[in-house]
Amino acid sequence: AAARLRRGLRAGDDLGFLDHDRLVVVCETHGGKKAATSLARRLSRSLSEPFRVEEDQVVLTASIGIALTADPATPPEALLDDAEVAMGVATAAGGNRWSFYCPAERAEALNAVTLPAALRRGLAEEQFVLHYQPVVEMGTGRVVGAEALVRWRRGGEALVGPDSFIATAESSGVISALGTWVLRAACHSAARWPAGAGAQAPYVAVNLSAHQLEDPRLTSLVRKTLAESGLAARRLVVEVTESVLMADPEIASRRLGELRHIGVRVAMDDFGTGYSSLAHLKALPLDILKIDRSFVAGLGAERADAAIVEAVVTLARALGLDAIAEGVETPAQADELRNLGCPHAQGYFFGRPGPSSQIDE
Ligand code: C2E
Ligand code: CA
Ligand code: CA
Repeated sequence: AAARLRRGLRAGDDLGFLDHDRLVVVCETHGGKKAATSLARRLSRSLSEPFRVEEDQVVLTASIGIALTADPATPPEALLDDAEVAMGVATAAGGNRWSFYCPAERAEALNAVTLPAALRRGLAEEQFVLHYQPVVEMGTGRVVGAEALVRWRRGGEALVGPDSFIATAESSGVISALGTWVLRAACHSAARWPAGAGAQAPYVAVNLSAHQLEDPRLTSLVRKTLAESGLAARRLVVEVTESVLMADPEIASRRLGELRHIGVRVAMDDFGTGYSSLAHLKALPLDILKIDRSFVAGLGAERADAAIVEAVVTLARALGLDAIAEGVETPAQADELRNLGCPHAQGYFFGRPGPSSQIDE
């Protein structure tokens, strides 16, 4: 194999043996990525013919990781490290291919290893905060509720949004502790929100992950948290995404039924992005449909989006459900939603997520 690889190289290129099945090629070029790609192709091709080993034919393939540098001061160890990360990516993608080193992948690879521990530490050190985004009644502009959205003040730095850690929290199991914390903090804050003149105090909506929904202890946790915080059950809404609900409609149905039995309301989040059948929609214990912001974004520009929003609003009304349009950013979108008869909305136009005191005001 070494002899074949050697033939794909130019004079001055180095071919080295690192350990059992790892080889390294070092070459100097002015051709950048293009030259590296054609070298990788040549090296792969040189292996493509089967090897004869006694009576047998043996096929070898290579996973090639490529790291480039334009800086002569780059330490060789760093370059080798980078190539190794890229090789891992090529192997993970099924092997027999090449991959360039990309700094984001390194961060990702490192994150997957260290993030769960950092999340646990963050919980112990109270680094998480909840922001609340108002939900308003379209007719009056009154704040009827607020959605709790978790943020992480990682090591005293700026707040980090949930998209960068919820998925890892789920896959590592940290989500049950984090979800419990979110529920508790949200109920305690909401219990202190004042009622407006002649109106009920706003409800609080908490996002549930698939993991939490599957946990048979969820209902007793919710019941206990409501009792501890003094929040009335009807002032708590749980949000579950359409995809999570549809992953196992039977479990979802049972769990959400229990929650509704104690007076908690249930919202289907991101409606329109998953795959609900109308039969499921009829059977699931739901109170609210949240229309995904991808449809709201097109209001005023895409006729199809207006048609979809209108159909969902009509469907919700026919099923006796409330509807909330998510991600309203412009006055034009708000106007159109009002015209389409959408009862409630949420979005930067009405209010960004902010501390609990913003809802008090
Ligand atoms: P989501 O439940 O769909 O929450 C709404 C997201 O849209 C929030 O992002 C919010 O800041 C953002 N948003 C609100 N209004 C607008 C708008 O007008 N325009 C645009 N472009 N965006 C708007 P955020 O806070 O980054 O949360 C992202 C997702 O993370 C949430 O999506 C939710 O699925 C998840 N998440 C947040 N908090 C929790 C939590 O406590 N537990 C769980 N399991 N998931 C959470
Ligand atoms: Ca939500
Ligand atoms: Ca949503």
